[in-house]
Amino acid sequence: MKNNHSEAKSRTLIELRSISKSFDGEQILCNIDLDIHDKEFVTLLGPSGCGKTTTLRIIGGFETPDEGDVFFDGARINDVPPYRRALNTVFQKYALFPHLNVYDNVAFGLRVQKVKEDEIRERVREMLEMTGLRGFENRKSATLSGGQQQRVAIARALINKPRVLLLDEPLGALDLKLRKDMQNELKRIQSATGITFIYVTHDQEEALSMSDTVVVMADGKIQQIGTPTDIYNEPVNAFVADFIGESNILDGSMLADCKARFAGHTFDCVDGGFAKNEPVDIVIRPEDVDVVSVEKGMLAGTVSGVTFKGDYYEIIVDVGGFKWMIETSDFVAPDAKIGLYIEPDAIHVMKKSEYSGKFGDYSTFSDEMDYLSDPDAEVEEE
Ligand code: ATP
Repeated sequence: MKNNHSEAKSRTLIELRSISKSFDGEQILCNIDLDIHDKEFVTLLGPSGCGKTTTLRIIGGFETPDEGDVFFDGARINDVPPYRRALNTVFQKYALFPHLNVYDNVAFGLRVQKVKEDEIRERVREMLEMTGLRGFENRKSATLSGGQQQRVAIARALINKPRVLLLDEPLGALDLKLRKDMQNELKRIQSATGITFIYVTHDQEEALSMSDTVVVMADGKIQQIGTPTDIYNEPVNAFVADFIGESNILDGSMLADCKARFAGHTFDCVDGGFAKNEPVDIVIRPEDVDVVSVEKGMLAGTVSGVTFKGDYYEIIVDVGGFKWMIETSDFVAPDAKIGLYIEPDAIHVMKKSEYSGKFGDYSTFSDEMDYLSDPDAEVEEE
């Protein structure tokens, strides 16, 4: 699968071609194709068990694909062992040497390579500066906080100047506040060094906030590759729409280009290119639904839940049995009858997929929906 914005990028550094992998007869990766560009911050994102770490381990050379090829800078590296690949890895468990101080932990890799002490001193200084650890040289790593230890692990991995850094849930053990700080730090370090980062996480917010490119995976397959904005605004299927942010996902059909029918109503939208009456999934983000009076609404429903979220209210609105999630800045009373108004560009139309019908609301789709949600509009099915 190619990135849809690859023209704007530097050249391809790593290519995965038709990679498949099974463990104990169970297929874990299925035909993975991925291009990773030089200096790119790429995140593999998906739920636990979808194959992210296995993909990372194949890139690192810790795992061999059953089928397919891995290329680095144009050369096939399937048989190249990890230590001969121009990459380094940071794991969630950072495995520092507890008896060594920060300086010696960071210098370790260079000493193994028998680099001269003068040069080591200079490079360690540079790395400690980069990772915000200046002044911590003599601290034993066991006395550092989790965030500081993770910085040491990153400094240690970067000091050999790898072309690529693989990061497997490196912030997983940190608390939320520290995670946020470290996300910013990692992004800054990545752009300052120009090293390609391949990052694994199941945290969608982390992926969206740090990455140039997000690779969404599920069930051993790549579902979508794109910029964070692409992935959020134009999810390709119900899985991506559900996994990234909150979504209302409805069954619908395309009556014609820019005419979608769902929830018993025909809506103007901006998508086209579907067959006449083709069944589709419709995605509408909670923040894209306007709350209006019943008379002005395209749909009408009853508020069944209101939760104050700080700068907005999250309300659940029952429209003919389908429960919509809506974010609004106006307070709406529980049990109020309200109208919903949806602009054409808030309606995202997706082809049906194996994930259709698995997500949507908190209840099942109701056959009575057409009648209940829109009793006045006797719109003929075309
Ligand atoms: P997580 O976020 O939980 O680490 P993941 O998306 O990184 O998930 P992987 O670690 O790639 O997923 O694992 C995918 C599946 O492959 C899991 O079911 C896991 O148990 C299995 N698996 C991974 N490595 C091995 C192995 N060496 N032997 C057997 N099964 C394995």
